[in-house]
Amino acid sequence: MDGFFHEGDLVSVLTTQPLGRALDYKSPEGGCQFGAFVEVPLGPRKVIGVVWGAGRGDYDISKVRAVIRVLDVAPMRDEMQTFLARAADYTLTPLPAMLRLATRAPGLGDPPSMRRIYRLGQGTPARMTEARTRVLETLREYGGLGFTLKELSDAADVTSSVVKGLLKGGAVIEEAAPRDVPYPRLDPDLEGKALTDDQAAGAARLASAVRSGVYGTTLLKGVTGSGKTEVYLEAVAACLSQNRQALVLLPEIALTAEFLTRVEARFGAQPAEWHSGVTMTERRRLWRMVGQGGAQLVVGARSALFLPYRDLGLIVVDEEHDTSYKQEDGVLYNARDMAVLRASINAAHVILASATPSLESWVNADSGKYERIELTSRFGSATMPTMRAIDMRIEDMPATSWISPSLKAAVTKRLERSEQALLFINRRGYAPVTLCRACGQQIGCEHCDARMVEHRFLKRLVCHQCGESQPIPTICPSCGAEDRLAPIGPGVERLAEEAAALFPEARIAVLSSDLYGSARQLKAQIEMIAAGGADIIIGTQLVAKGHNFPNLTLVGVIDADLGLQGSDLRAAERTFQLMRQVAGRAGRSEVPGEALLQTYQPEHPVIQAILTGEEETFWRAEADERRHAGMPPFGRMAGVVLSSPDIQDVFDLGRAMARQIDPLRAIGAEVFGPAPAPIARIRGRHRVRLLVKASKGAPIQKALAAWAGQFRLKGETRMSIDIDPQSFL
Ligand code: ADP
Ligand code: ZN
Repeated sequence: MDGFFHEGDLVSVLTTQPLGRALDYKSPEGGCQFGAFVEVPLGPRKVIGVVWGAGRGDYDISKVRAVIRVLDVAPMRDEMQTFLARAADYTLTPLPAMLRLATRAPGLGDPPSMRRIYRLGQGTPARMTEARTRVLETLREYGGLGFTLKELSDAADVTSSVVKGLLKGGAVIEEAAPRDVPYPRLDPDLEGKALTDDQAAGAARLASAVRSGVYGTTLLKGVTGSGKTEVYLEAVAACLSQNRQALVLLPEIALTAEFLTRVEARFGAQPAEWHSGVTMTERRRLWRMVGQGGAQLVVGARSALFLPYRDLGLIVVDEEHDTSYKQEDGVLYNARDMAVLRASINAAHVILASATPSLESWVNADSGKYERIELTSRFGSATMPTMRAIDMRIEDMPATSWISPSLKAAVTKRLERSEQALLFINRRGYAPVTLCRACGQQIGCEHCDARMVEHRFLKRLVCHQCGESQPIPTICPSCGAEDRLAPIGPGVERLAEEAAALFPEARIAVLSSDLYGSARQLKAQIEMIAAGGADIIIGTQLVAKGHNFPNLTLVGVIDADLGLQGSDLRAAERTFQLMRQVAGRAGRSEVPGEALLQTYQPEHPVIQAILTGEEETFWRAEADERRHAGMPPFGRMAGVVLSSPDIQDVFDLGRAMARQIDPLRAIGAEVFGPAPAPIARIRGRHRVRLLVKASKGAPIQKALAAWAGQFRLKGETRMSIDIDPQSFL
C-alpha cells in the first residue's frame, strides 16, 4: 500500500478530532507520502493528522482545502495503520481516539531543533596548553562524534572558554546538528552470563523463534528468581542481531532502574526509556529515533506499544499477569493483548513472562496456541521459600492488633540474625474505615459511593476513588459528637505503627505508592532497602512486583483472606498470583526464605493451593470452573457502564438498553442488568452497569456496536464499553 501522492491529488487525512471519519484534502506542493504526518486546516484551526489513503472524492472538489505542510518525521508505516484500525475495532474505540495514542509525541509538529556541536578541525592552535591538549585528545579519542560544549568541557575537564579558544585557529570547529540524536548502540555480541542448562535451552528456543521472522507467542513461566530476565535478554540479543527493534514492557516504573542496569551489563549501553517519568525532551527524541531506527531497544510502560517502530521484532511483556497492563480509563485496552495483536501484524515474537501467569495465558499455552517454556527452580543456591498458614482462629491477640504472636516470633528471629522481614498488607493509608462511636456512621466521600480512608502520614482523609481529601475531623459530620471518631481496621501506615511498638529497635521502612512524590524518590527508597538500610519492610502491592531484596528471608502476609472476599470473577486467580508473588520476595539468595500467611480459613482451596504450590492443579481447577460457567477465557464478556449526574437518566437508559437487545440476541449473547455498579457513584456521577456475555466465537464487537448505536445519550450521560473487563467496578 505504500504510495506517493502528487501535488493536488486527493488524500484522505485522519486526525485525532472526533469527526467520525477521515477528511479529503489536496496534496501540498511537493506531494506527500502514504502515511505522512501532515498539518491540515480544520474550520478555523490547524490540526495534525496522518495521510490514511487516497481521497474519497465524495465532496465538492472546489471546497476541498489543501494540506498545509508535511511534518518532518518518518511517515506512519502501513502495519501501524493496520494495528490502530484493528485495535480500534477490537476495543470499540473510535479510530481518532486510537490515533491519539500513536501521536502522543511532544513537539510533533515542530521542526527538528538544532544545537551547536564541536568537532575536531584541520587547523593547529597557535599556542598549546595542557588544557587545550586534553580537549584535542578527547576529540581524537572519540573519532567523528560531535560533543555539546558542556559534554566536551566535562569530558576534557576544562572550562568552556578553553574549547571556545580553540575555535579561532580552526583546531576545533563548531557546527549545527539536530538535537535529537540516536541512542548509543547496544552490542548483542557481548558475552552474557553463563546460563544454566534449563535457562540455555529456553534461551535457545526463544532466540530461534525470534530469528524465524514469523509471528508467535511464548509463555515464559518461571518461579521468581529463576532467571526469566536473563533468558529473555537472549531473545532480545537475537532480535538486535537481526537489526530489528525490541520492546520490553514493565508493569511498574520503579522496576525500570534495575532493568536498565542489567541491559547495560549485557549489551554495553542503556536502552531508551518510555514512561510518564521521562522528560518531554527525551520523549520527543525517542519518538523520532524509534521511527528512524536510532533506538534498538525500548523499555517502557504500556503506551510504548504505540510508538512508531521502524521494524519491531520482539515484544516482551514482563509480569504479564499484572493488572496495570489494563488501561482503565480513556481507551480501555489490555497491553498484553494488544502486544499480541501488534506482533501478529509485524511478524514479531511475543514473550509473556511471569511466575504466576494470567489464566488467559495459561489456557492459551495449555491449548497449544502459545509456546511454553518453564523454569522450575531458582538460580544458584536459592530455593523457594517454605510456606505456612498462621491460623488466626487460635492466635491469642487483642482486636486492635494485626501481628499475631506467631508472626511476631518469626520476625524477632530475623532481627536477631540481621536478616530482613517483609510485612505485607494490600491496603494503603492508616485505616480503611473511620467510624463515629456515638452514632455509628462511617465517614464517606461526598462525591462517591466510597469510604474516606484515613492517611495519617498526610494528616487527611482521602477518597481512593476520586482523590478528594479533607483534614481529619475531630467532630462527627453526622451527629456532631466530639472526639468519638475511631479508625477501624488496618492499613499499611497502622501496621507500621504496630510494628514500631512491637520492635522498637528495628529500622522500619514503608513502601506504598502514595507515600512518594516521584518515581525517583520511590526508586531511592527501594535502593535503600535493597542495600540493607531497613530491618522490617511494610508494604502494599507495590512490593510484589519483582523487586530484588537479597537479604529478605521472611514474608508475613497480614490478611491472606482479603482478596477472597469479593464476588469478582478473578478473586481466586488474583489472590493466588499476589500471594505467590509476595512470598517469592523471600529467600532470593543463599539463606532460605519463609512465607507465613495469616488466615481465618486455612482450609480454603485457594489458600491450600498457595501453600502447597501445586500451581498446575490450581490453574486446571480454575480453568474447569470458568469453562463450565462459560466465563472468560472460555466465553466473551463486555461491561457497559452508564454514568450521569442524574440517577433517573442512567436507569432509564439502562432499562431501555436491556429491553432492546435484538442485535445481541442475534449472536446468542445474554444481557445482565441494569444494576448499580459496585461503586455506584464516582465524582458525583451515578453509575449503572450492564454485563454482556457471549460464547467464545461470537462476533461480540459488531453486535455491541449495533446494540449501543440504537440509543441516544441524553444530556451529560456517558457510556463506556469495556471488552474483556478485568475489574468489575
Ligand atoms: P526472574 O526474572 O525469574 O525473577 P532474574 O532474571 O531476575 O529472575 O534472576 C534472579 C537473580 O539471579 C538475578 O539477580 C540474576 O542476575 C541472577 N541470575 C539468574 N540467572 C543467572 C545466571 N545464569 N548467571 C548469573 N546470575 C543469574
Ligand atoms: Zn470520592
